[in-house]
Amino acid sequence: MSKFAWVTLTTNDTYSLGALVLAHSLKRAGTAHQLAVLVTPTVSEAMRDRLKDVYNVVQEVNVLDSQDAANLALLSRPELGVTFTKLHCWRLVQFEKCVFLDADTLVLKNCDELFEREELSAAPDVSWPDCFNSGVFVFTPSVETFNKITEYAVQHGSFDGGDQGLLNQYFADWSTADIKKHLPFVYNVTAYASYCYLPAFKQFRDKIKILHFAGKLKPWLLQFNSETKTVSTPTDYAHAQDLIQHWWNIFCDSVHDSLSDQMAGLAGALSQLRIGAQRTPEQEQYENLMRRQCWESGQIDYSGADSFDNIWKKITQTLEAKPETSSEADQTGSS
Ligand code: UDP
Ligand code: MN
Repeated sequence: MSKFAWVTLTTNDTYSLGALVLAHSLKRAGTAHQLAVLVTPTVSEAMRDRLKDVYNVVQEVNVLDSQDAANLALLSRPELGVTFTKLHCWRLVQFEKCVFLDADTLVLKNCDELFEREELSAAPDVSWPDCFNSGVFVFTPSVETFNKITEYAVQHGSFDGGDQGLLNQYFADWSTADIKKHLPFVYNVTAYASYCYLPAFKQFRDKIKILHFAGKLKPWLLQFNSETKTVSTPTDYAHAQDLIQHWWNIFCDSVHDSLSDQMAGLAGALSQLRIGAQRTPEQEQYENLMRRQCWESGQIDYSGADSFDNIWKKITQTLEAKPETSSEADQTGSS
């Protein structure tokens, strides 16, 4: 068994859809290494069972756990809770080296060579290239490092309130100390057009190894036609249409069958789709629900752990109160 692992994190069943597609993308790319996922208690049992099918390690982590000294210290800084969750990856000391991947990344080519790099290797962030983007990084698990970063977090916080600010403060010499720790951009290409140098995207697209759906529009939120198995991409993602379709192809081929109505949020809804079959009215209603969910997601900040479940509850309540008509559905779909 390899001593190296790819590591991701999911705090709810919706992000778990990303984690499942990511795992299959790693397997398709023929990785020789293990897969590990950190899950918080808010991930359903049904989803954990499916994650276990593809991940060698499904490790539960608590956002704030009073049994734990480091976490106790963080209780005085509750805003760092989500950030802290990602830091748990340093506790996976059964592995010699790991690469963390956000659940909204998609591996397009084998990247096993990343394990030759040292901690902390990462690619520049498109918005501020002297900072690294924390969606993909190479690290060495160590309880000592975990404690040091946690202590640092308690003392200094994070300049952006998230893990990226914190890790850039902690690994402060990343931009100048060692060029080998600068991963080429192809290991973490931001797909969203506003962040993207489009002519370069076109020129180098065949070289992209890991695509990152950073920003609000995640692939699972886009309008998907279950009958034709095609995804509709907004203009901001038009240049990456085939790559987003690739995410959905993996979803249809390898993930959809494993979903169940025991799962929360979008995962539970997607389990009800009959992919490739003619849409029933019920199915159409689900697609309308998803469209509406996409639309609503653009209006609110959904970065909190359970927000999708909340949106989902709200949508379900609305629909139960007043069944949607097709003309209303059309309006929702075009917004
Ligand atoms: N994440 C999660 N649940 C959330 C938000 C984030 O599990 O509600 C995890 C997930 O692995 C995600 C990562 O934290 O990929 C970073 O968040 P995100 O990718 O949404 O940030 P972005 O890359 O858009 O800045
Ligand atoms: Mn991300």
